[in-house]
Amino acid sequence: MVDPAPLRCLWAADALLPAGWARDVLLTWNPYGQLTAVTPDSVRPEGVPEVDGPVMPGLPNLHSHAFQRAFAGLTEFRSEQADSFWSWRAQMYRFARHITPGQLEAIATWLYIEMLEAGYTSVCEFHYVHLDPEGRPYADDATLSLCLLRAAKTAGIGLTLLPVLYQTAGFGGTPPADGQRRFIRSTDAMLRLLERLKPLCDAQGARLGLAPHSLRAVPPESLREALAGLQALDATAPVHIHIAEQTAEVDACLAWSGQRPVEWLLNHAPVDAGWCLVHATHLSAQEITRTAASGAVAGLCPSTEANLGDGLFDMPAWLSAGGRWGLGSDSHATVNAAEELMLLEYSQRLQTRQRNVLATAQQPDTATAMTLAAVAGGAQASGRPVGGLAVGQQADFVTLDPRHLALDGLDGPDALSAHVFASHRTSAVQAVWVCGQQRISAGRHGLHGSAAQAFVAARRQILNQTAD
Ligand SMILES: [Zn+2]
Repeated sequence: MVDPAPLRCLWAADALLPAGWARDVLLTWNPYGQLTAVTPDSVRPEGVPEVDGPVMPGLPNLHSHAFQRAFAGLTEFRSEQADSFWSWRAQMYRFARHITPGQLEAIATWLYIEMLEAGYTSVCEFHYVHLDPEGRPYADDATLSLCLLRAAKTAGIGLTLLPVLYQTAGFGGTPPADGQRRFIRSTDAMLRLLERLKPLCDAQGARLGLAPHSLRAVPPESLREALAGLQALDATAPVHIHIAEQTAEVDACLAWSGQRPVEWLLNHAPVDAGWCLVHATHLSAQEITRTAASGAVAGLCPSTEANLGDGLFDMPAWLSAGGRWGLGSDSHATVNAAEELMLLEYSQRLQTRQRNVLATAQQPDTATAMTLAAVAGGAQASGRPVGGLAVGQQADFVTLDPRHLALDGLDGPDALSAHVFASHRTSAVQAVWVCGQQRISAGRHGLHGSAAQAFVAARRQILNQTAD
């Protein structure tokens, strides 16, 4: 018996396209999962199924450290008089010290399933645990990267893999601390790893990029050499870097170079639209103008930045400079695309004492404006064609449950507003499609149960290991 041809057409009464909400939209894609036609105001052709509920583009998650999912919620106690990012980081290192390849794969598989169930359809994995617990390369140096590639494949989420270059503990070449020993690699070893991973990523439809961890962790000469090596491998590969997340980092950079971190980066690296500046929380007015003009994406991680006490990004100044932005779940204190959007808008309201700060002249509906901006910025940072419901982009989309109490009876824009601002932590994500394939039905992934069990077992093992 021959399997029926996979479904390649759907019709939606309400769909969010790049220019805004449209009615009676016929979506058509090819066997590679690429949209070939997006037709509003169409009559539903006979035999083409109607989507149940409003359709929105899937959100690219532009910043993830998968292993950190295993201790989300476990650092919420005071360990110092003035607890901070830095005391949190010491606890994070305890977790990173013991994790095994099998544990990483179980954690990442569950995390990526959670992301799909929460409305993310792709992820940029900022991957910095490379070595074994003693700080030596595994027999196959790509071991932990391969765990992440397999996890993404098992879950069916799109992936941009960003191996992290990490060499020093502070500005000016401070030697790495013991807790950082699993992250360290030479620039040559990084370039060999990228060469090994490139064909594997290509075969899976994943994108390979590079993440210099931060200016603290990568000396100028290494940054220059690594970028040149990446350029030779793939001239348009994405580059992500943590930057200006903490005021202490800004002060240390000023003491080292006389320049602020983003100022230094713009003066010494070819920052352009291929770059994602993760956090970029503490920017001067001049840095905002120059960074926005470079075309780089600001990688905002609202729940993690709140959890770590980083500070607030100046969104009104960034938007008025024409800056692009996207969202990441980073440490995975929250894995919920709608909640990240809500937190971002609410943090700006608290700061500015205004409402609907992220609405735009073109899109007065705040949730709609934020979703479109985060999809466009996320796609740019991912280096993948995941920029929404348009011809040539991947068929990555989410349908919302029209019977969810918060959404029942509402049209597309109001349903999305209710999903973001008033669903009270009960997700309205109903079905999720990635590259034209359905991964979530009735809010659940097919591997939800088994992946959750494997995650809990891995976390228990790590907690036992770190208790030693
Ligand atoms: Zn991060």
